[in-house]
This record gives sequence, structure tokens and C-alpha cells, in this order.
Amino acid sequence: MPCVFCQIAAGQAPATIVYEDDRAVAFRDIRPQAPVHILIVPREHISGPLEVTDANAALIGHLVAVAAKVAQQEGLAGDGYRLVLNQGHHGGQSVFHLHMHLLGGRHMRWPPG
Ligand code: 5GP
Ligand code: ZN
Repeated sequence: MPCVFCQIAAGQAPATIVYEDDRAVAFRDIRPQAPVHILIVPREHISGPLEVTDANAALIGHLVAVAAKVAQQEGLAGDGYRLVLNQGHHGGQSVFHLHMHLLGGRHMRWPPG
């Protein structure tokens, strides 16, 4: 089974891309859970947060930096936003290519569901 986020990053599957660089791609979630719901993914296939080690951890910092840029672009800087990484079944992960959710445009509840 081809990985859908690898395909989007390679331009081989459609997505509304809002930012891209040599290491990461950001695109709108197909089923938005907030007025702004963007996924930020590394171009490299990493299955999820559990596969992050000291060898590739810098990539997570880069995803957070991309999220900050995209949040500015989307007008979220003032009111804020939420970043989410889901791992595995209990984490609610459904796509097994590491992705950071950027959610904004409404007040987020805590604790999350
Ligand atoms: P997870 O539940 O794994 O943390 O998040 C996966 C997210 O990817 C979900 O919010 C889901 O709506 C989104 N998603 C799944 N398939 C696609 C797709 O083909 N295109 C886009 N843009 N989003 C997708
Ligand atoms: Zn992938």
C-alpha cells in the first residue's frame, strides 16, 4: 500500500498545499476539525512519534517552526493554536506517516477527548 502522505509530499496525490520546503510539506486536512486544520509532514517517511530518535529529532523542531510560519500566514498568531502529534491506537493515529496537526480558529478544549 503506498503511503498517502508520501504521495502528497511527492506531488503524486492531490492536496491543498499551504507551505513546502526541502524537508516538510503543509497541507489542509481533508476532514477539518477546526476552522483552520493543517497537517505538517516531513518529506522523509517516519511512521509516527515513536520512531523519533536523537538522529532525526531536529525534524520535529523544524515541523514546529513550519507550524509557526503557517500559523502567521493563516492569521492565528494573535488568538493562538494547538499542535498535536498522535501515536498509535490510543493516540488516535490513523495515518502512519508522522504528521503534526495545526488547529486553530476556535477555542480548543482541555483535556482533549
Ligand atoms: P491522525 O488521526 O493519524 O492523527 O490524522 C490523520 C489526519 O489525516 C486526519 O485528520 C485525516 O482527516 C487526514 N487525512 C487522511 N487522509 C488524508 C488525505 O488523503 N488528504 C488529506 N489532506 N488529509 C487526510
Ligand atoms: Zn509516508
